[in-house]
Amino acid sequence: MSENVFITEERIEGDDDGPLAGRTVAVKDNISTAGVRTTCGSRMLEEYVPPYDATVVSRLKDAGATIVGKTNMDEFGMGSTTETSSFGPTDNPAAPGRVPGGSSGGSAAAVAAGEADLALGSDTGGSIRCPAAFCGVVGIKPTYGLVSRYGLVAYGNSLEQIGPFANSVEDAAQLLDVIAGDDEHDATTREPPRGSDGRTGDARETREPQLENGASYADAATGDVDGLQIGVPTELLEGADEGVVETFWDAIADLEDRGAEYHEVSLPSVEHAVEAYYVIAMSEASSNLARFDGVRYGHDADAEGNWNETFAQAREEGFGDEVKRRILLGTYALSAGYHDKYYKKAQDARAWVKQDFDEALEEADVLASPTMPVPPFERGKSLEDPLQMYLADANTVPVNLADLPAISVPAGETDGLPVGLQLVGPAFGEERLIRAASALE
Ligand code: GLN
Repeated sequence: MSENVFITEERIEGDDDGPLAGRTVAVKDNISTAGVRTTCGSRMLEEYVPPYDATVVSRLKDAGATIVGKTNMDEFGMGSTTETSSFGPTDNPAAPGRVPGGSSGGSAAAVAAGEADLALGSDTGGSIRCPAAFCGVVGIKPTYGLVSRYGLVAYGNSLEQIGPFANSVEDAAQLLDVIAGDDEHDATTREPPRGSDGRTGDARETREPQLENGASYADAATGDVDGLQIGVPTELLEGADEGVVETFWDAIADLEDRGAEYHEVSLPSVEHAVEAYYVIAMSEASSNLARFDGVRYGHDADAEGNWNETFAQAREEGFGDEVKRRILLGTYALSAGYHDKYYKKAQDARAWVKQDFDEALEEADVLASPTMPVPPFERGKSLEDPLQMYLADANTVPVNLADLPAISVPAGETDGLPVGLQLVGPAFGEERLIRAASALE
């Protein structure tokens, strides 16, 4: 068994039948499971047992899945290596000695190591796609609003979505079929639009992404890319490792052989995406994590003194360094006098990124890039230089700023290390991404 994939190993049996009967699923430990502790990779929640299931967990149970455990993750989702977990790091089953990526590293590793057929992660700025790429598995970050966040412990709530991991595009799509759709507990959710997916006949002109009437996401994994227009944003290749870029172009050539066409496109705003993402994510985190004070939620420090002293001690003992850094920076960015300088600017940049993606997707059916600009890092290096780590998110965070769907699919290897290819589509264009990604299998 690979090291430290699960924080809690516990079997939760679902219904007897359903589309996922007989399948095992690992669940990231920031997704609530009634009666089973949910730690978010943090000492702060080491003993927290939620009284209710997240909507995605209820849907898994109804679909007949067997949950096999809660997976390791960067503390509260903050990181790209699973090394900020309070419960120790996880190894990469596809590249031993290297990180599995993060923050959903345990979920990707569980699938890569065969410890679960399927897994759920969450993606605020790449936390599904990064570990999928590093562990050589498939990961989908759904359109904002396709999957309920009810029961997901919030980090950056305007950015994040729960999504699937699997060893094949079809399996990931099948899990998406189970978790997607409207939920009365999350007002931001909706049903995927149905009609035609916009890639054939007249509908194609409109490029309207829709799920074919009655069809499922799993049915879309046909590998048909004939006539598919792929846009390659040049900015997302700049600064990427040479071997990664070579593997990426080989995969694009495979898609061309199958009838797809590509052209280069430009997304000038993405040079500001990492800065904008971190200001917004840290600002939201500073507010979302205010509830962990040892009284409402979290570690009870048994402190003597007034409220301020008790709260301070609980937070000092409960949170790790990366979480504290982000709460401090986020609080600063939101404070009076700095709000306009940082938070508002970041929101303006977010609007610009959205507009750039929308325009590029008028000229192309999907956009393609390497998921991560680098192969998996060696373990033990990432905590030395947080800024370097933030920059590795250059290709994933713009998609969250734009609320769009993306898939990471294995593209090949460089020096024996897995490389992921990311496809980005228009809002609710998951079916198109699934069809295109399945051509690479
Ligand atoms: N690496 C990013 C961060 O640390 C992604 C996190 C995520 O998607 N949860 O914020």
